[in-house]
Amino acid sequence: MRTDVNTLGEFGLIEHLTRAFPLNNPSSIKGVGDDAAVIDNGPFCTVVSTDMLVEGIHFDLAYMPLKHLGYKAVVVNLSDIYAMNAFPRQITVSIAISNRFSVEALDELYAGIHAACEAYGVDLVGGDTTSAPKGMVISITAIGQCEKELLTYRNGARVGDLICITGDLGAAYLGLQLLEREKQIWQENPGIQPDLEDQKYAIGRQLKPEARRDMIEVFRKVGLKPTAMIDISDGLASEIFHICKQSRVGALVEESGIPMHPEAELLALKFKLDPATCALNGGEDYELLFTIDPADVEKVKYLPEIYIAGEILDAKDGIKLNTKGGNLHDLKAQGWVHF
Ligand code: ADP
Ligand code: MG
Repeated sequence: MRTDVNTLGEFGLIEHLTRAFPLNNPSSIKGVGDDAAVIDNGPFCTVVSTDMLVEGIHFDLAYMPLKHLGYKAVVVNLSDIYAMNAFPRQITVSIAISNRFSVEALDELYAGIHAACEAYGVDLVGGDTTSAPKGMVISITAIGQCEKELLTYRNGARVGDLICITGDLGAAYLGLQLLEREKQIWQENPGIQPDLEDQKYAIGRQLKPEARRDMIEVFRKVGLKPTAMIDISDGLASEIFHICKQSRVGALVEESGIPMHPEAELLALKFKLDPATCALNGGEDYELLFTIDPADVEKVKYLPEIYIAGEILDAKDGIKLNTKGGNLHDLKAQGWVHF
């Protein structure tokens, strides 16, 4: 018998492959299923996360400069460490490359990796280099640190908690749509120079994302510990589902509370897309989705770039979206389809 991986989907496949692996070492505090694994190291925990980027699937060098790619490859990993309320300290970088890439090209990639290490204060401590028949694959592992009692998991949301979102959503997805469109135009008419001038925000969100270290620092400063947290890599809807599934709760999301940048909203309309759909299902924003005890609302109320966008409900109430028009829908998690 042969089962196509499509039938399981990404998360179903991960569950299928990893279900026979119990955690036997007492130091393995958290295994598969969160933004990062957690390893007990005395008063501190070590937090580990890894991500692989494949040319043609996760990036397209037609519009992604290698330096940006290096930067982004690091940032997406650091984002998972911050999502545990932890601080990244080290990374390892492994690459598989075809002979299409020169030393100068790889220097560019590593200039981006270097810039990210400097910006986020992490050290490159190892990796692996190998040849590939074609294309490029980059796999980065990030290692972070957190006091045990400050770790935030996906499974800590409780009924009545408030749902918070940092920054704004949807712009990275719209930036990608724009770059894809310009690429197509360019392929058909190589003489035409792409005009991306007035869409700098969305393009920047796609090509040079940042991880929300600032938010984790603010949480420490105001003494806030979210009850649950996840980074928004696959779209808000998909991440809400992860939190609800693991916390065994439901949720009510207010469409009017979902933060969007005005430029992204305009761009969505230009593409004849519903802005809220872009925010809910577009990926790669690398913002944080977290829940807080309502008693902590004063701690976030006056902080910039944190938006309250709903409430955690009982599991039996399901996962709902209250639209701007006042209609209550079941929220659907499209997320990214990898296969
Ligand atoms: P994220 O989007 O936060 O990077 P993923 O969706 O990639 O998280 O992964 C979800 C969980 O599954 C993580 O705990 C990750 O470590 C684990 N995981 C993903 N792929 C595999 C695999 N092939 N084998 C074991 N664990 C995996
Ligand atoms: Mg994540």
